[in-house]
Amino acid sequence: MGKKLVALTGDRPTGKLHLGHYVGSLASRVQIQEDHRQFVMIADAQALTDYAHEPERVRENILQVALDYLAVGIDPKKTTIFIQSMIPALPEMMMYFLNLVTWNRLKHNPTVKAEIQQKGYGEEVPAGFMVYPVSQAADITAFKADVVPVGEDQIPMIEQTVELVRKFNRMYRTDVLVEPKVVLSKVARLPGTDGREKMGKSLGNAIFLADSPDDVAKKVKGMYTDPNHLRVEDPGKVEGNPVFTYLDAFASDRIKVEELKAHYQRGGLGDSVVKKYLLDVLIAFLDPIRKKREELAKDPGSVMDLLREGTCVANDVADTTLKQMRQAMGILYF
Ligand code: ATP
Ligand code: MG
Repeated sequence: MGKKLVALTGDRPTGKLHLGHYVGSLASRVQIQEDHRQFVMIADAQALTDYAHEPERVRENILQVALDYLAVGIDPKKTTIFIQSMIPALPEMMMYFLNLVTWNRLKHNPTVKAEIQQKGYGEEVPAGFMVYPVSQAADITAFKADVVPVGEDQIPMIEQTVELVRKFNRMYRTDVLVEPKVVLSKVARLPGTDGREKMGKSLGNAIFLADSPDDVAKKVKGMYTDPNHLRVEDPGKVEGNPVFTYLDAFASDRIKVEELKAHYQRGGLGDSVVKKYLLDVLIAFLDPIRKKREELAKDPGSVMDLLREGTCVANDVADTTLKQMRQAMGILYF
C-alpha cells in the first residue's frame, strides 16, 4: 500500500460554522479522513488579520468551531485538529514565502479583492490581511498537503500556493514542498439566506449548525426567493433562488424536489409551501448535529485537550518541513 495522501483544510474562528461550511468543506472532510492523513486547522491567526480588534471573539470561537467539527463527525482519532497560532513554524515559513511573491500579484487576488470591497477597507486594508494568501500557502505546505477540499472562494489561494511551491522548489533546487490540488465539493458555493452569492459567517445571512429549530424557522421564513414571484399563481424562477439551491443540497427526495421545481416554474406554488418543506428538510438534517454538539459542549475541557494533543502532533510535522526548507535554502546554520 502506498503512502496516504495528505489533506489540509481550515476555518477562521470568526463565528460558528454554517450550512455553507457543511456542503463546501465539512462533508468532504468527514469522507476524506477515512483514507487520507488529514489535518484540520482552526485559523485563529488568519482571523486576526481582520479581527485584530476582537481577539476575545476569535478566542471564544475556537471552542465553537471545534464543537462544530466534532458534531458533524470529524473524528480526532482519524484527523489532527490544531490551532494555527500555536505553530511557530507557520509565520516563519510565511516570511520566506513573502520574498517570492510580488505586491502586485497579491493585489490581484480576486477573493481578497472581493473581501476588501465587502469589508469597505479601500486603501486602508491591514497589511496582514493583504498577505493572508501567503500565510495560507505556509499552512498548506507545512503539512505537505496533496489535497485541499474547499469552497470555490478558495481557488485563488490554492493557485497562489502552487505558484509559491514551484518558485521555491525551482529557486532552491529542491523538491521538499508539495503542490496541492483543490478538491471542490458538489456545492462549491452555497448562497446566503438573503440571496447573496455566498453564505458567510460574517455576513448575517447564515444558518448555523448550532441554530435552534426556532431560529432556523425564522431564517427560512425570511429567506430571499424570486422577487418577481408576487402571487401564488405567477410562474417563479428556480435558478438563483436559494430556497431551491438549499433543497438541492440537503433534500434526499430528489423526485419531490424536481416536482416542486416544475410546479414553481409553472405557477401555482406559493413560497410558503416550498419554505415549509425546506424547513422540514433542514430540521431533520440539523437535529442530530445540534444534539451531539450540546452534549459535547457540556465538557469544554475535554475538547480543549483534544486541540492541545492535535497541536502537539501538528507542531512536529511543521517543524520538520521548516527544517527541510531552511536546509534547501542553505540557512540552517546549526
Ligand atoms: P468569514 O466571513 O469569516 O471569512 P466564512 O464563512 O467565509 O467566514 P471561512 O472560515 O473563511 O468561512 O471558510 C472556511 C471554509 O468554508 C473554506 O473552505 C470555504 O471555502 C468554505 N465556505 C465558507 N462559506 C462557504 C459557502 N457559502 N459555500 C461553500 N463553502 C463555503
Ligand atoms: Mg472566508
